[in-house]
Amino acid sequence: MDTLKRLNELKDILNKASEAYYVNDNPIMEDYEYDMLMNELIKIEEEYPELKTIDSPTNRIGGEVLKSFKKVKHNSKMASLADAFNFDELIDFDNKIRAITPDATYICELKIDGLSVSLKYDNGILILGATRGNGLVGEDITHNVKTIKSIPLKLKEALTLEVRGEIYMPKASFHKLNLEREENEEELFANPRNAAAGSVRQLDSSIAAKRNLDAFLYYYMDDKIKYQEEALIKMKDLGFKVNPLYRLCKNINEVIDYINEMGQKRPNLEYDIDGIVIKVNEIDKHSLIGETAKYPKWAIAYKFPPEEVLTTLNEITFQVGRSGVITPVANFKPVFVQGSLIQRATLHNEDYIKQKNISVGDIIVVHKAGDIIPEVVRVHDKINNLPFEMIKNCPCCGSKLIKFEDSVDYYCSNIDCSEKKINQIIHFASKPAYNIDSLGDKLCELLFNLGYIKNIVDIFRLKEHYDDLIKIDGLGEKSVNYLLDMIEKSKQNNLDQLLFGLGIKHIGAKVSKLICQKYKNIDNIINAKLEDISNIPDVGEKIAFELINFMSKEENINLINELKLFGLNMEYNMGDIKENFFTNKKCVITGTLSFVTRNDAKKFIESSGGKVIESVSKNTDLLILGENPGSKYDKAKALGIRIMEEAEFKEKFEE
Ligand code: NAD
Repeated sequence: MDTLKRLNELKDILNKASEAYYVNDNPIMEDYEYDMLMNELIKIEEEYPELKTIDSPTNRIGGEVLKSFKKVKHNSKMASLADAFNFDELIDFDNKIRAITPDATYICELKIDGLSVSLKYDNGILILGATRGNGLVGEDITHNVKTIKSIPLKLKEALTLEVRGEIYMPKASFHKLNLEREENEEELFANPRNAAAGSVRQLDSSIAAKRNLDAFLYYYMDDKIKYQEEALIKMKDLGFKVNPLYRLCKNINEVIDYINEMGQKRPNLEYDIDGIVIKVNEIDKHSLIGETAKYPKWAIAYKFPPEEVLTTLNEITFQVGRSGVITPVANFKPVFVQGSLIQRATLHNEDYIKQKNISVGDIIVVHKAGDIIPEVVRVHDKINNLPFEMIKNCPCCGSKLIKFEDSVDYYCSNIDCSEKKINQIIHFASKPAYNIDSLGDKLCELLFNLGYIKNIVDIFRLKEHYDDLIKIDGLGEKSVNYLLDMIEKSKQNNLDQLLFGLGIKHIGAKVSKLICQKYKNIDNIINAKLEDISNIPDVGEKIAFELINFMSKEENINLINELKLFGLNMEYNMGDIKENFFTNKKCVITGTLSFVTRNDAKKFIESSGGKVIESVSKNTDLLILGENPGSKYDKAKALGIRIMEEAEFKEKFEE
């Protein structure tokens, strides 16, 4: 009876997790946890086959077919892969293969962590791109597939064919996208796979186009092809991107060596992999080996154990954000994860801690989400059974915390709370906002604590304290002069930087720009009407409400008026394009430029109507070469792209 209860529980959890993962691109658990629960269900069903029902998640390949996309019936099933979680399971797989075909060889490929795609070409022209969907029917995503630059729209030969592969988002693009989303106060993607899936399943292809997606192809659906290795070579010749790290292995020991080798390489790859796919190389043996309802028996996916580390939770501390939001933070015994020491991770809010049942003293599992952000995955050993109690008062000023009905967060209600104020000042001066060079987090905090900057306006009063400032330990004349210069210079910043810097709830960098584009100056923004603001595309009522709310408060209008008196620019400059050498050119900058910051070089190129992009491709027009260039330089040379040395760039910049 207990088994039946557990089975139903597992089916329920896995169905919920699948929906969150495949339909909403927003996972509610770690992949490893999902795989372990699925494994448990498979084991129960193997032991009690009479309990296996037709709707069991073990029968399903994965995604649902969304309603808004045209449906596409696949010519042959787009199957999933059986998993192996250790080398014993691989040896087992090998034994089964050798019992049928003793001389089998294997092609090992990286298991790219993205989403599978089927591409169809008619006489060499791309006519269809489709997701896997439920394996039999997928979604037509041709419009988005066409935005992926490495997928050829036309093949080198006029062939009619189907290939399959994986669309993915490179780690660097994922990181950049999440930074942008953070600035714009949009929800972050959990990992590159979800970001890629979320980008491909958009009706508006301009979104996918901006996301810098890529694709590796690994199946060539042609009966005439005899070997998987031949398929990979043929696809490469036709112009597809094929992952170059595949290897032909004669036996399972060579496969294991390959897995170990790739495991070492994994952290340094430019894209996420979650395992290694091992395929029988001899395609004519595939039908003999056969398949199950869910996956082929001639291939298996070895899944890397997650790079997770155990540690002890020493303390939960609380941070006060610039809006007053209280964020609990896990402070754990420092541990090395993927090459760096981590000791803190956000615990988001009270509900999150309660869901994970985390208490101080517990042994917890930590990892780096998306290879970057430290995260507490789960409790490994429950040492302390005391439930978590959320604090009632602000850890900084002691004021009573408040919680709004529609929110999971607690807020400090005191407008004078010093941590809140320090964070408001730090935000204002930060790069994405008012970008005051040299006024970093530490200096903001120091000047706040010494009483020189109590609010944003005080930044512009700093010069009145010149004689005192130069006496501060670690500052001195030179750095104070520089700081004051930078503050003076910042007054010319564009209005959207100021609006973002004010730290209004939900108004990130992107929304600030949209609002400024419509209203042109601060007075128009102050007097804007709720319906008009809500009608700006991508803005909406929630944001409009916060803007109106902010501007309706006397203290905020006084602050803006004071900033006006200090001469801050209050007009939005649409940025007239000054045509020059860089107009319409796609430029990449590599290495360090000595005479200008990267940000200013970028601004200059953009104000000339050019574009600065992150990576070199055949579409790049120009590579600007700083000191100690990276691999972009070699790539640009190999592609014959024009290379501009710093001296020439400086000349053009100064012109
Ligand atoms: P899978 O990830 O186990 O492997 C099959 C897929 O691998 C193929 O469909 C293909 O897209 C991909 N692949 C990448 N490189 C490949 C290559 N070189 N050759 C062949 N295929 C390659 O199976 P799946 O059905 O895509 O996804 C199931 C997995 O998704 C689970 O194991 C789990 O990790 C994850 N998942 C997680 C949650 C969650 O809540 N976190 C929920 C559902 C699924």
